[in-house]
Parts: sequence; C-alpha cells; structure tokens
Amino acid sequence: MFHEGLLVVISGPSGTGKGTVLGLLRQSTPNIVFSVSATTRAPREGEIDGINYFFKTVDEFKAMIEADEMVEWVNYCNNYYGTPKKFVDECKQQGNNVLLEVEVEGALNIKRKYPDSVLIFIVPPSFEELRRRITGRGTENPEVISQRLEQAKVELKFIDRYDYVVVNNTLKQAVEDINSILKAEKLKTSRNSRIIEHLDFKDA
Ligand code: ADP
Ligand code: 5GP
Repeated sequence: MFHEGLLVVISGPSGTGKGTVLGLLRQSTPNIVFSVSATTRAPREGEIDGINYFFKTVDEFKAMIEADEMVEWVNYCNNYYGTPKKFVDECKQQGNNVLLEVEVEGALNIKRKYPDSVLIFIVPPSFEELRRRITGRGTENPEVISQRLEQAKVELKFIDRYDYVVVNNTLKQAVEDINSILKAEKLKTSRNSRIIEHLDFKDA
C-alpha cells in the first residue's frame, strides 16, 4: 500500500516530445493527475484554457505571484510560466500522484520545496532530431525556434541534478520508461514506512 502521492516533475528541451509522451502516459496510466500551469504565452492552435494551461495576462500572472498562489514561477523565453500551489498540495495530501511539466529552474525550485519529488529529464536522441522536431511542429517562428534551441543547451547542463533521464527515441519506450520509474519510486522503503512499521515478526 502506498500512502502519499508522488510528485513527479518532467523537464526537457522544447521540442523533445514531452507533451506527446505525457499525452500517451495520461491515456495509459489513469492514477496520475496532471498539474495545469499558468502562462502568459499565447495559446497554440488546439490548446484549451484550463486544460493545457491557464492562459493569463501579465497583470493577472503578477497578481497570482503577489497573492502567494504559486509553488514556483519563471520567465522563460520572454513569457511567464508558473505552477499553482493549491492543486499540487491538495493532490499530494489526498494521496494522488501528481505530474508537473516545468523547465529546469522551476524543477530545481520544486525539489528544494519538496525534497521527495521525483525529477525526470527527457532528452531527444540527438540535437539534430530536436531541431527537426521543433521545426516540424510548426508552432514557433524561426526566431523563437533558435531561442529555444539555445535554451536547450543551457538546460542540458543541469541534467545531473535530475533523478532520472529518459531518451524519447520511440514514444512507446519513453512511456514504458516513465512507468518503470513511477513503479520503482512507489516501492522505495522510504515511501512505505507504515507497511514496514506494521510488520510484526516478534512472535513468528
Ligand atoms: P515538447 O512538449 O517537448 O515541446 P512536443 O510533444 O510538442 O514537444 O513534440 C515536438 C514534436 O516532436 C511534435 O511534432 C511531435 O509530434 C514530435 N515527436 C514527439 N515525440 C516523438 C518521437 N518519439 N519520435 C518522433 N517525433 C516525435
Ligand atoms: P511551452 O511554451 O512549450 O508550452 O513551454 C515552455 C517551457 O515552459 C517548457 O520547458 C515547459 O516545461 C515550461 N513550463 C510549463 N509550465 C511551467 C511552469 O509552471 N513552471 C515552469 N517553471 N516551467 C513551466
């Protein structure tokens, strides 16, 4: 039996395939809830407010910071992104596993606040493949693409601060790898102290 929900943080360079992998994980792994971040960037085609992000104006976002409603927030490539606090804390207390997709700075801030969180870094098979994917997605203009590819090089330097690395070569393998991580994390002795305490071998 597992008592407190896992807090799982996923990062990786823009275009690696995080959204795609997490979409599949959502279908195959029902006992995970996904935290919805707030952002000031414009919605991409097909993105829905409250599902992909809470889309905010800069003033609305700043008001959330002022009201201490964020676990963490950053300015990434000229837009604000942040994790609303209420949802994460409620999920954890209710014993639900909660998954957050955030960039590196946010991930490290979450680890500081929640030392038992699980940090997973998803990487593409190569930088060239990353370029192909982000360009092929067709959602950013060339200037934003080169900004994000530069940011990818910076982000990769922090990979050793993460607990796990998953290569998104094939989607199937990447989803399987994340599921294996979740399974192993749930079986850690440190997360199962109540079971261990209740084992009574004294009279055996
Ligand atoms: P991110 O959320 O990391 O920015 P996306 O999930 O939007 O990345 O994926 C970027 C592009 O790469 C999308 O066009 C997606 O279809 C494609 N993609 C994702 N994973 C793979 C994969 N394993 N193999 C090939 N293409 C992929
Ligand atoms: P995108 O604009 O591609 O959706 O996201 C850009 C980057 O912002 C990604 O690396 C994504 O993981 C990160 N991001 C999304 N939400 C948050 C958040 O709440 N906090 C932080 N720190 N980063 C976020």
